[in-house]
Amino acid sequence: MDGAALASAEELPLPNCNVCRRAPVTNRWYSSCLPCRDKRNESKRRTKEKKREQRMRAFQAITRDNIPTSSSSSQNVSAGKKRKVPEEESKADALERMRKRFKKMELVKAADVAPKPVSATHSETVFEKYVDDKNLYKAIKRRYPDSANSIRFYGTYAIIAIPNVNNKLKARQVARDLRSSTPLHFNLEDLEAYPDGTAYIVHYKCTCRAMPPRRASDLSAYFGSKSKPAVDETPKDACRGRIDIRVEDDRSHSKGWLGQRIKVTLNHPKM
Ligand SMILES: [Zn+2]
Ligand SMILES: [Zn+2]
Repeated sequence: MDGAALASAEELPLPNCNVCRRAPVTNRWYSSCLPCRDKRNESKRRTKEKKREQRMRAFQAITRDNIPTSSSSSQNVSAGKKRKVPEEESKADALERMRKRFKKMELVKAADVAPKPVSATHSETVFEKYVDDKNLYKAIKRRYPDSANSIRFYGTYAIIAIPNVNNKLKARQVARDLRSSTPLHFNLEDLEAYPDGTAYIVHYKCTCRAMPPRRASDLSAYFGSKSKPAVDETPKDACRGRIDIRVEDDRSHSKGWLGQRIKVTLNHPKM
């Protein structure tokens, strides 16, 4: 019978589903039957959805209390001058930033599993804790009323991070505040700055023996034809005092908020 021969050539019996082993596979390209495929796809979808929800819950726990409320906290106020949160940063932008930050945090957490090398100075130095920036500045003023004093100061405080101020920006902000709220002398533009992992560090030289900024080129220009050999950029009698600011992620908050820890180190020789 021609009809039967034709049929068997076109429709070789499909193998059975390799999941339920009962129904034939959907077609030759698949290894499972239609109901089994549907089931598997559905469970994949649910797992994906669950993971997304977990991420969102964790993210929201951090952001809920973390969206900048214009000018409430001290971190936006610098010596009476209010620093405005830029208008163009919409709430959506802020959330996006927080999301990125949170992702970074997750990576950092994963990295925490491995013992990480801690820079010697930071593991040994004990920083005195202050409630906030104001109290830290007060302590500096009290212990360092003028630049003739010798001082070794290690102070720290923590804040809840806000989305548009990363560790680098925060370090520069602290430097400005430190300069305007304490008797410390340093040139905001003359700094050494670099990241240390997710932390950010800035160093300033004390300029208490205030000399106009000098460079070898300025000097030779000043002395004109009597051009001296290039000298050291810093005059010999420059103060060796140092102001160091370190801003790092602070994940110690009990409610899981992402914070920033600010560490201020002052080292000043007696005049
Ligand atoms: Zn099946
Ligand atoms: Zn000095």
